[in-house]
Amino acid sequence: MKKSPSSRRGRASREADVLVEFAEGLAQSGSRAEDHFWESRLEHEIESLLKDGDEGSLNAALDRLADRESRAYEELADAIEGRVEHAVAATSDGPRDVLLFAAPVLAWSRMPLPTRPIPAAVIKATSQALSEVVFTPAADLALANYFFSPDQLPETFCDTADLRQTLTKSLPEGVCKVDPATLKETAQFLADQRYIIGVVSVPQGEAIFRWQSGDANREQVMQRWMEQSQAALAPLLPACAFESMLPRAYYVACRDADRSARPFSIRASVAFLATTLSVSPNALTAVVGGCYNRQLEEFRVGFAVGEEEEIIHGVVWPLLGAEDEMSDVAEEIETTLKDSGIQHIVMLRQRLPMEYCDDCGAPLYPNADGEMVHAELPDVAEQPSQHLH
Ligand SMILES: [Zn+2]
Repeated sequence: MKKSPSSRRGRASREADVLVEFAEGLAQSGSRAEDHFWESRLEHEIESLLKDGDEGSLNAALDRLADRESRAYEELADAIEGRVEHAVAATSDGPRDVLLFAAPVLAWSRMPLPTRPIPAAVIKATSQALSEVVFTPAADLALANYFFSPDQLPETFCDTADLRQTLTKSLPEGVCKVDPATLKETAQFLADQRYIIGVVSVPQGEAIFRWQSGDANREQVMQRWMEQSQAALAPLLPACAFESMLPRAYYVACRDADRSARPFSIRASVAFLATTLSVSPNALTAVVGGCYNRQLEEFRVGFAVGEEEEIIHGVVWPLLGAEDEMSDVAEEIETTLKDSGIQHIVMLRQRLPMEYCDDCGAPLYPNADGEMVHAELPDVAEQPSQHLH
């Protein structure tokens, strides 16, 4: 029977009601015993919605709780993300925990940053490095054979859960083939994140990461991974400077990368401009302004040489998580610029519009007068400007 749109909406609303009720129950619970009660009901409900591909009900429940700014929103978001990235798989050796993880990389280059299939030899070296320094000896893993840009990560909860399931099926081979034709195009920035994505599987309840098993603490794991991954990932990033980040569960790793990419982009831009223009960082001026839709969405930083009017390069610093106008974001940007060697910093106080170039879609950046302008690198650069219009 064909369902009318209104009956579908009614159904989505009933299912969202259930999620809201359970999440509010969990938020108001007064004991671990009651927590477990609500958590298991919430988990069961989320699992069946993911199985049905019912993204609408998950988002409807989140939207409803977001309006009320309740703790229940955090509980529900945690429960959904937790269920999307983790499952218990039945195997002939008994039940195993399977966790979707990401190993983010921050990279910058004068050339377009690569996003590409990962050759078998790099998959092998990366798996080996992950097994030796990040995951416990009991862990099996499978990696997707693609070096993802942020634009190419799954967009919905259901798609992310599907990726986890596809990777889980590839555990015996250790590698999962991704069809590049199914992935989106990537917006090019001087500096950006790239991701190695995989699943790790251990006997249910056992340690997944080395820092859980007492072998090493988080800092030691990070140090060893930075060293090992430089060699393993170098073939993927020719002519790029890059830093590996700690491999963690998928959602937290992506959030770590979003946060670290902001100061990384500033440092990369200063290094790029200083070498391209053969000037020292203190010859550059940075103009920082907050861009608004209904509320503050992001800061944009325009770079100029000395007192010159032209903006030659720009960086977007998006707000993340609970950050808003009251957060110390502007101060953090100013500190990052100073630490990168920039001494001339103009902090604009006015509300700027979120404007983009009509021709190429590039963000416009503020100049010292508070006008939004197109960043144009002068001709001294070896390669032609990306914006010739
Ligand atoms: Zn343009």
